Amino acid sequence: MTMQPYAVIEQASRGRLRPEPGDKFRGEFQRDRDRIIHSAAFRRLEYKTQVFVNHEGDMFRTRLTHSIEVAQIARTIARGLEVNEDLTEAIALAHDLGHTPFGHAGQDALHACMRRFGGFEHNLQSLRVVDLLEEKYAAFPGLNLSFETREGILKHCSKTDAHTLGSVAERFINGGQPSIEAQIANLADEIAYNNHDVDDALRAGLIAVQNLDSVASFVDCQREVNGLWPGLSDRRAIHEIIRRMINAQVTDVLVASHQAIETSAPASVDDVRKLKQPLVRFSAPMRSQHLALKRFLREHVYRHYRVRRMSVKAARVVRELFKSFLSDPRLMPDDARDRVFELEAENGRAGRARGVADYVAGMTDRFAIAEHQRIFDAARLT
Ligand code: MG
Repeated sequence: MTMQPYAVIEQASRGRLRPEPGDKFRGEFQRDRDRIIHSAAFRRLEYKTQVFVNHEGDMFRTRLTHSIEVAQIARTIARGLEVNEDLTEAIALAHDLGHTPFGHAGQDALHACMRRFGGFEHNLQSLRVVDLLEEKYAAFPGLNLSFETREGILKHCSKTDAHTLGSVAERFINGGQPSIEAQIANLADEIAYNNHDVDDALRAGLIAVQNLDSVASFVDCQREVNGLWPGLSDRRAIHEIIRRMINAQVTDVLVASHQAIETSAPASVDDVRKLKQPLVRFSAPMRSQHLALKRFLREHVYRHYRVRRMSVKAARVVRELFKSFLSDPRLMPDDARDRVFELEAENGRAGRARGVADYVAGMTDRFAIAEHQRIFDAARLT
């Protein structure tokens, strides 16, 4: 595999927090990817959702299938730009590890609960999962991933938080960008969820194909599909349209990013890190189409009354679990309870709250619902 000089190369990696001997067969970023796949947090993504709650139906995306789709799109872009595919894939697979149950509704509810204790942010939590919360290795907490994978996972961060995180968060203090591989994973995430949310919303019956008449990116592909296969069944037509939308966006990103790279001609990943703007980007016309699709989804899907009902219920479950555990950690399973008391001994009330937030954030949708019933349903004894 040829790699451009601005790609992350393993030999120049800033390494792991705790140095480890190399592997005989696998590269370091490949190992990072493998550690992510074998983590408990990754497996739990199967029962966590973004928009639709898991038990609403088995045909919708979960965070697991979303992460795999992001990795697929990201690898395609990485290959096209001749940068590090293994690193790109590792970041893509890990990008959602810190998500709470119930998507954004869960995250917002947990953030509100944690407001007095430093807040809750899923990106920071993803880093916390790989740096601290996974319990797998004898010699260290977390997965001990490479600097570049951790840099990519930390997509957003406030200045206050950045000061506590060391070199991985430097760019949030001094300005600058992460590696091209991280930029790819970031944009692949947006491409993946925009398109699959249209697909899921159509299948869930939240919107009908006619509602998308005002969305240019959809209509253009729809016209092409109708021209090629008039009378195609809805199911196949929707797939043919969405694969064209993804393809058009990926192609656009490749062309626009190539141009941006040519213009700024970075000679190394450190040159990439010094730039003011990301190099991986849409062209201006595609950017506006992308934003139009996002606006459509916000108005017609994310604010749909059926989604809102689930979100309100989800927020209640998260809030009530958090409050119960914070006021009485002895309601928690032994190992989680012990951790909460340990964190409290180190850092008082804020430590206690953080331990509870870690426990609640780690839950899947169905586990959170079951825990809520076990605690609040008087008729339920186990
Ligand atoms: Mg995502």
